[in-house]
Amino acid sequence: MEQELSYGSDYKFIPATSIGSGVGVSVAADVYCHTIQIVNICLVGAPGAKEFVLVDAGMPGSADDIIALTEERYGAGSKPQAIVLTHGHFDHVGAIIELVKHWQVPVYAHELELPFLTGKTKYPEPDPSVEGGMVAKMSFMFPNEPINIGHQVNPLPADGTVPHLSGFRWIHTPGHSPGHVSFFREQDRMLIAGDAFITVRQDSLYKVIIQEEEINGPPRYLTTDWQAAWDSVKKLRDLHPSTAITGHGVPMSGEPLTMGLERLVNEFAQIAIPDYGKYTDRNPH
Ligand SMILES: [Zn+2]
Ligand SMILES: [Zn+2]
Repeated sequence: MEQELSYGSDYKFIPATSIGSGVGVSVAADVYCHTIQIVNICLVGAPGAKEFVLVDAGMPGSADDIIALTEERYGAGSKPQAIVLTHGHFDHVGAIIELVKHWQVPVYAHELELPFLTGKTKYPEPDPSVEGGMVAKMSFMFPNEPINIGHQVNPLPADGTVPHLSGFRWIHTPGHSPGHVSFFREQDRMLIAGDAFITVRQDSLYKVIIQEEEINGPPRYLTTDWQAAWDSVKKLRDLHPSTAITGHGVPMSGEPLTMGLERLVNEFAQIAIPDYGKYTDRNPH
């Protein structure tokens, strides 16, 4: 079965980083958020716990770092019970094949994301022409070919539960990608939002590097359905999250999160949707 696991043909290390790279923060007693270059992964499970889950799988080439991190938190030889994915973009599945081979654990993702994870469909090409600075302009080098993790990946259960992540439910938040999901825990209103919205302006290389806190729409160069992305942000705002971990940028909580989300919902067209680019119809070209 192992030979069917493969990255896309354009898979490669991406030389992008931020001030937060290698830094982690405990967002709750059992939720840890760690930055790999420019993307966040999440470990859910208290330190030393026997059972924990990894949310998203980092940048290409980061498997050793992720394994070291989990062993530091949960002990030598520890492994998560599952890897759950917010979506399948390269910066969220960058180390997944090494991790799956090392740990032999199941992966879960939304049904609509499975074609991109089983070698069937490639993502639309990133749009380097989109309005918005250096990261967008770098995006031509971002991989968009599908990876193939074959039978290791399973659809999230239709009832909204998340395997091995008790207390959390998944919420379909498409727009940035068709099967994008966020994870929400009612008990403490903890939201793991993936790239449904992010807390850094990824269209500014400077702000990516310094990780200045600012709620923004999904990364522009890979978002293809802006109306769905807007609806997804509304859905997440309506959950009234008290803390949010996003795929890019620092975790936010309380008033700045509430205000930032409200502003994003109300001014989505101005804040999030690019003025030009191939996936925006406001200014088709
Ligand atoms: Zn993404
Ligand atoms: Zn991302």
